[in-house]
Order: sequence, then structure tokens, then C-alpha cells
Amino acid sequence: MAGNKKKPFYGKLILSGTVRCETGLHVGASSDIMEIGGLDNPVMRDPFTGYPYIPGSSLKGKLRSIAERIQGKQFNRSIRPGFRHECSERQCAVCRLFGSTAKEKDEENIPSRLRVRDAFLASQSVEWLRGIDTPLSFTELKYENTLDRVTCHADPRPVERIPAGARFSYEIVYDLDDEEQCLEDLENLLNCMAVLEDDYLGGHGSRGYGKIRFLNNRLTLRGKDYYLGKEGEKVLAKEEESLPRLREILGELYERDIKPVFGREG
Ligand SMILES: [Zn+2]
Repeated sequence: MAGNKKKPFYGKLILSGTVRCETGLHVGASSDIMEIGGLDNPVMRDPFTGYPYIPGSSLKGKLRSIAERIQGKQFNRSIRPGFRHECSERQCAVCRLFGSTAKEKDEENIPSRLRVRDAFLASQSVEWLRGIDTPLSFTELKYENTLDRVTCHADPRPVERIPAGARFSYEIVYDLDDEEQCLEDLENLLNCMAVLEDDYLGGHGSRGYGKIRFLNNRLTLRGKDYYLGKEGEKVLAKEEESLPRLREILGELYERDIKPVFGREG
């Protein structure tokens, strides 16, 4: 029974750094699938500051879809729009990282081990974008020629996008739940991030939008004792790490610093 299970708390691992836009980025307020003949979606903006931002759900959704493809999972669940993979197997490399909702009564939810935070505009980018020559606030307009699928009528439409060069601060928190699966989970996550760099985020990817890079990656360990006020956090990888470098040293960091956390009483 689910109620009898003990789930020890070992702590969290925080991966943070910068997302830099290599090309214009359009993360729309609603559906990014309606690329052609769709609405001229504005980009997502923080309602308090008015600055554009990258919603954590967009980043997580993209990483998940990459993970599903890398792991060769079946897209068995209908979401709006499209399909994705979700199952009730606790060993599933995708669902244990990204979570899964039970479909049948006898199934259990698999909680996501990842929290992907909203990525807000970095302060130096706020200043830079404030100064660019554009009719919009912090963003640019690019005209894309779209073709009406029914009438074949060409219709140039403005698309709002975040200019190349803009930087956002990202943060991904991983729950330290399972010693057996931890290293594999972290490798999977970094692999997905590497694939995303050669894929795209947001809409209009086929037109060259949404190329991003993860820079200044920092990995911080906060064991249970950190939250109990008994010890400080441990910075395992400092801010200058590139994604490939982080993948290279991950095994070492795991053996030396992360694995011992599971040895303590949860
Ligand atoms: Zn699954």
C-alpha cells in the first residue's frame, strides 16, 4: 500500500546557470504549435516587471519530449496539443524524472524528481534590451511569411521574439530520492540539455528560432543537514562550467560528494 511506504529525505541538487539565446526566441503565451496561419502570439512576460521570461513548464516540457525520444518511449498519452509518454513504472527513466499521473485506479502517480523554475531575464540583459531600437518593450518584431493552408494565400505576419544574445537565469532542482538511479538520472538530464542546444526552444524552430545554450553551469548540493541548519551547501561545480565539461566530471562528483548523502539516515 502506498500509505505504508517510507520515503526518506536525503536532500536536493541544484543545477543553475544561464540560458543564452543564440537566435531569436519565441515562447508564446499559449500554443506554439499554431505556427502557420495561427495567431500572432506575443511572448510570455512576467506580469510584474513586463520582462519576457522562459516559463519553467516550457523548458521542462521540451526536456521531457527529448528524454522520451532518447529513451525510445511510446507516446501513449494525449495532451493538448499532441501526444507524450506517461506510464506507472517506477523504473521508467522518463517518468521518474519528469513525473507521471495515474490513469487507472490501481496505478500510482510518479512524482517528478525535477523542478524546473521559470527562467527570468538576467539583469545585464534587462539594461541591454531596454536600449535596443524596437517598437516593442524588450523584444523585436520579425515578419514571417505564412501560407494559409486552405487558400494558399501568403500572409506576412509579425512575430514577437526575444533578440539573440539575451540571457536568462535558469534553475533546475533534482530531488535526491534513489541512490541506484541518481547518477543515471543526472546523466539523462544533462544529455537532454545537450540535445536541446542542438534543437530549439519555443515556437518557429524550423525557421531558426529558439537556439539556446546553457552557460555558467553551477551544481550545488544541499543535503538533509543543510535544511536542518547543521551544515552549509556544497558547490560541486562552479559557475564557469560548460555543459560538456559538467557531463565529463559528473561521475567523479557523484562518487565523491553526492553518493555519500544517501549513506546517511534519511
Ligand atoms: Zn514512463
